[in-house]
Amino acid sequence: MTVGRFAPSPSGRIHLGNMLCCLLAWLSARQKEGRVVLRIEDLDTARCPRRYAEQMEEDLRWLGLRWDEGPEVGGPGGPYYQSLRNDLYQAALERLQDRGLVYPCFCTRAELHASSAPHREDGQVIYAGTCRALSSAQAAEKARKTGRSPALRLRVPEEEISFTDGHMGFYQENLARECGDFLLRRSDGMFAYQLAVVVDDAAMGVTEVVRGADLLSSTPRQLLLYHLLGLKPPAFYHFPLLLAADGHRLSKRNADAGLESLRGHCTAEEILGKLAYLAGFNPSAEPRDAESLLQDFSWEKVPGEDICIPPTLFS
Ligand code: GLU
Repeated sequence: MTVGRFAPSPSGRIHLGNMLCCLLAWLSARQKEGRVVLRIEDLDTARCPRRYAEQMEEDLRWLGLRWDEGPEVGGPGGPYYQSLRNDLYQAALERLQDRGLVYPCFCTRAELHASSAPHREDGQVIYAGTCRALSSAQAAEKARKTGRSPALRLRVPEEEISFTDGHMGFYQENLARECGDFLLRRSDGMFAYQLAVVVDDAAMGVTEVVRGADLLSSTPRQLLLYHLLGLKPPAFYHFPLLLAADGHRLSKRNADAGLESLRGHCTAEEILGKLAYLAGFNPSAEPRDAESLLQDFSWEKVPGEDICIPPTLFS
């Protein structure tokens, strides 16, 4: 049985990019007669207060994108808020620690972002392995001297990790060279997205992950974690990003692409019809409900390149 999921981070009101993500995840799973899980990715509780999550749930219901398992509905994989799942992340972390794959890192953000540090295409720093070889005595000494509690990093292997994305095709990365040892837990104790998403997708029985192409390059890190934790990875489908008319990525600054403004002058069917049109599976921008789009949706119709939202489409 196919199990898809929506995994939004409620750091504000959802925008068109989040809505397209949920629509595609819903259609892709439902077309295979699968189920959909809603999981709220609120690890960063300061940025993701509960009221935003509740607003997001209400917005998704308003759009007509229902989930079979998740907040309010319940189900066997709960709780469905990442902020309530720290025990599971801790258990996974300990399994990796038991195998000697985790080490403490005392580098500060400023040190990591020093101008000479090599950066990935997505702007993140490639970790140089500064704390990789610290002995436990040296680590204890560092902790004492700096007064800092360390972040925790995973030792990554020097090998290519590849997979075939259901939409974007073949992708590979050598984590040692292109990413470096990555964070599992921050110095303030917050678990990293990469660990939490793997633990949760596996625990919730997710068989397909649909998300924006900005997360394509996270997938090799997640595949490594699946492998190390002995978990079966899902299929991945990454779709092109929606860009504002000026070619920039949608963000909270594009208030007109947020549901707060859109709900004032569009129906749910109008929004879904236009999104499906932009994503290639509605022949025109006519209003459509999610159910009716099931017959038209296919991954082959979805473009591979980022999609610019024409300035007047949603106005
Ligand atoms: N919570 C992430 C976001 O809203 C999505 C994570 C995922 O789909 O793996 O961007």
